[in-house]
Amino acid sequence: MFFTGTRSNYNVQSAFAIASGLAADGGLFVPQDFPAFSADEFAEMTDMDYCQRAALVLSKYLTDYTADEIKYCVEGAYKGSFDNDQPAPLADIGKNRRMLELWHGPTCAFKDLALQLLPYLLTTALKKLGTGKEAVILVATSGDTGKAALAGFADVKDTRIVVFYPRDGVSDMQKLQMTTQKGKNVSVCAIAGNFDDAQNGVKAIFTDGEMKEFLNRSNMEFSSANSINFGRLVPQIVYYVSAYCDLLKDGTLKPGEQFNVVVPTGNFGNILAAVYAKQMGVPVKKFICASNKNNVLTDFIRTGVYDRNRKFFTTESPSMDILISSNLERMLHLLAGGDSSKVAAYMAELKNNGRYEIDADMLAKLQSEFYGSFCDDETGRKAIKEIFEERNYLCDTHTAVALAAGENYRKETGDDTLQLIASTASAYKFAPAVIQALTDEEMPADDFEKLTMLSKLTGTTVPAPLANLKGDEILHRECVEKENMADFIRRHLG
Ligand SMILES: *Cc1c(COP(=O)(O)O)cnc(C)c1O
Repeated sequence: MFFTGTRSNYNVQSAFAIASGLAADGGLFVPQDFPAFSADEFAEMTDMDYCQRAALVLSKYLTDYTADEIKYCVEGAYKGSFDNDQPAPLADIGKNRRMLELWHGPTCAFKDLALQLLPYLLTTALKKLGTGKEAVILVATSGDTGKAALAGFADVKDTRIVVFYPRDGVSDMQKLQMTTQKGKNVSVCAIAGNFDDAQNGVKAIFTDGEMKEFLNRSNMEFSSANSINFGRLVPQIVYYVSAYCDLLKDGTLKPGEQFNVVVPTGNFGNILAAVYAKQMGVPVKKFICASNKNNVLTDFIRTGVYDRNRKFFTTESPSMDILISSNLERMLHLLAGGDSSKVAAYMAELKNNGRYEIDADMLAKLQSEFYGSFCDDETGRKAIKEIFEERNYLCDTHTAVALAAGENYRKETGDDTLQLIASTASAYKFAPAVIQALTDEEMPADDFEKLTMLSKLTGTTVPAPLANLKGDEILHRECVEKENMADFIRRHLG
């Protein structure tokens, strides 16, 4: 299996793609073609546990890793770090809907599924490539990636990790999770800007010649833990494959029977993994792309025009407050039939004018598989209250956006096909908004008392990783202007 780039053609194997993160021309690595599972393989997988399924999916893409290496990576990532060793369980929430719960890991958001595994994949890749260099993981985060990457990479040998988050764009709990992170190889910094500023800054640093030289002199090289890294995507394909196997196993679906996938979307990584799962044979009918008020993707799916020149909103689903969805570039590459010059032209337009329009052929393909919908915070809160009252099911603000989009889709199309809804975070990470959705009672000022209040209100337990933050010392207090991100890196790596 070889990988090419979205903006020009490459011929690299997975270890190289994972170690570098981004292609040299700023494009993203994508598989040259997609491996597919046969009906027999799906049948075999229904009796496997999560680790075995993961190993099988990985083995199709990481053909340059040995079976032992893959087993070592997968077991290191998933054995012991998730509740009940169940990384991605399903919950029946009625009306032919299942929640795919992706928040049972150490940082209580779906990013753990990929970021518990990525350090293993990356350090194994570095060993295979034999560069002898230390990997510097650069992360721009809208809140959840930062902590999940820190938890994955803290004190991992031969790696350093630097995380940038938007000062006013993350929840209190997310901020606390990051600023208390221990580890000799970690640096965390707020920036005076939003997520797009952080992401653009990181992308620019990646391709900056001077920075590259600075790193070379220190025997280091950059890599990425953002979903631009293909190593983030493969583990995400796994949970869609695994969910399909679970649905086959419990008789909800017959082999080959289609279902719809609903994903609360920001950077387009999670939903793209579902698209890749379909390429491998998972029978997805529609991809329902759910956005908050930053609805650039809803407009894109409806019109074919991607236009980031619009007001940026800070919402109660901060991990989706994004105007430039990086992984959409991989989707364009797929829609363009692998025509990298076409993708490069769109990306140049996006960079220069903040806007591009795909051609009619690509739009038709996109619309045949995708449905886009968005909602505001108030509608999200209603969804939280409704599902709690109806089913005694607690969901977070991001998952609520997906619930609302799934509902809109049903109303608009009349399609009652089973919906698999990606539940991306624990409600406790966004306790204030969730509490306000559920009750008018006065909220305590203290962050931890809020967690207790939500627990009492709902009869659910505060996740240990959040409860345990209490009393942890704040270790990272720096905040820089977005122009000074490179300078922060030099100071901290020097
Ligand atoms: C990151 C994140 C999202 C968005 O996922 P993308 O892969 O960026 O589209 C949604 N919800 C939560 C809770 C997240 O952390």
